[in-house]
Amino acid sequence: MGGGLAAAGLIAAPAIIGRACAQSVNWNRDPFALGVASGAPTPSGFVLWTRLAPDPLSPDPATPGGLSAEFYPVAFEIAADAQMRDIVRSGMTMARRELGYSVHAGVAGLEPNRPYWYRFMIGDALSPVGRTRTVPSFGTGLERLRFGFVSCAHYEVGYFSAYRHLAEENPDVVLFLGDYIYEYAYPPETEGLVRTHSDGVEATDLRTYRNRYAQYRMDPDLQRLHAATPSLVTWDDHELENDYANFHSQSHDNEERFRARRIAAYRAFYEHMPLSALSWPNGSLLHLYQRYSFGDLAEISLIDGRQYRSPAPCYAAPDWGRGRLQTNSECPERLESERTMLGRRQEAWLYDGIKSSNARWNILGENVMMVQLLQRTESGAAAYWTDNWNGYPANRGRVLQTIEQSGLSNPVLLAGDIHSFWTNDIKLDFDDPNSPTIASEFVGSSITSNRPPYDVFLSVLPDNPHVKYFDSRMCGYATVDLTKEQMTTRFRAISERTDPNATVSTLKTFAVENGRPGAVEI
Ligand code: FE
Ligand code: CA
Repeated sequence: MGGGLAAAGLIAAPAIIGRACAQSVNWNRDPFALGVASGAPTPSGFVLWTRLAPDPLSPDPATPGGLSAEFYPVAFEIAADAQMRDIVRSGMTMARRELGYSVHAGVAGLEPNRPYWYRFMIGDALSPVGRTRTVPSFGTGLERLRFGFVSCAHYEVGYFSAYRHLAEENPDVVLFLGDYIYEYAYPPETEGLVRTHSDGVEATDLRTYRNRYAQYRMDPDLQRLHAATPSLVTWDDHELENDYANFHSQSHDNEERFRARRIAAYRAFYEHMPLSALSWPNGSLLHLYQRYSFGDLAEISLIDGRQYRSPAPCYAAPDWGRGRLQTNSECPERLESERTMLGRRQEAWLYDGIKSSNARWNILGENVMMVQLLQRTESGAAAYWTDNWNGYPANRGRVLQTIEQSGLSNPVLLAGDIHSFWTNDIKLDFDDPNSPTIASEFVGSSITSNRPPYDVFLSVLPDNPHVKYFDSRMCGYATVDLTKEQMTTRFRAISERTDPNATVSTLKTFAVENGRPGAVEI
């Protein structure tokens, strides 16, 4: 037989796989303890995720998840049915040490707009079965879309019942709008904690961020949600550090040290999210903003309001590295036209999308709320919170001008961050009550995180007539049903975050009619 070199090559590959498998045929601990997930849906495929971690909270940075080999080959199967009988695709992917033995299997070539089921295998270990789906081909007709949006899941202060109930609603897709983890840990004696963060410390390096994600991913309710539906993700601040902006730490940390921390946090984020190769961590950069099309019905853009933003206004002031209420007289810098929340490149990408979209509904998933919120200092002066879009009014103005001038069809904003339910009219000029409403905005409370005092925000509503609804008394999430004629948003409240068996109920339901910006309670 000819072709000796090629033949040797063919023999060598199975031999390597055989050896790696031989190390791991019998797992005495489940390597799939972190479950499975999927994301980045396209008309022909998606990304399938898992991470091998038989010892998920391994304290040794050299053995993430309790493993030490250079790599492990992991097999996956995709089926057309939930029983995994009709296998339509199978493949092999690598779990590498450099990415904490996470797996991101990009799949293409499947049929549009239908569900698929999948699982992973290594040695004698079999992962749970996950359900995912492809989206319709670009521009084709789609009658309905159901999705959920969630944010702010502090593990220590509550159970993830909200995730469980959302999974049971069977959404086509779920949007994670930030604060998926919290980097800090409450002191263990803190009143009201139902469980504590592993390591007991604030995450600052690769090991502690990895273990934080691993601990969250061991939660059965979160696992269930990820296994039930594909995820679209953006982040807010707590995936790295409270209120950080770009390379600026809230605590004015040394820039070199904060850069190293950001590299670790971004890498751990990629390792644990079902992201496409576009989001491959590139040192201190991670491309996260992305647009997803759902036929002619909806376009969902997720934006990244953290990585590229200008520092907090008047950042150099000793205690001004974090969000605070600021008046125009103490810090006119807040109003400067060059300030940006998104960074110039992301702004350009967003405006291109706004100008070119043909979708009926145009959803913007944002980590922080866009509505102008006038609050007052103790002396009664008008002041604005600097960590959300109120710290970046020039950039907000550019977004709203672009929406208005493009005639974008049915723009809707969805946000996290503020741990409370909100329904807002987005005005072209918030200071003019006669200014047209050009979009609606919804915020779906927190999964568990501590909520702001109800009375404090109630008292500012008279200054902000564009806020239609506010409630901070419950944790929860939101579910959206989209048809060509109506968007129906249900605020879903959890009975009690400290109860692992908490029930869910609908707090309020709002409708936005096609062609008529502004939400109406139904
Ligand atoms: Fe939060
Ligand atoms: Ca936040």
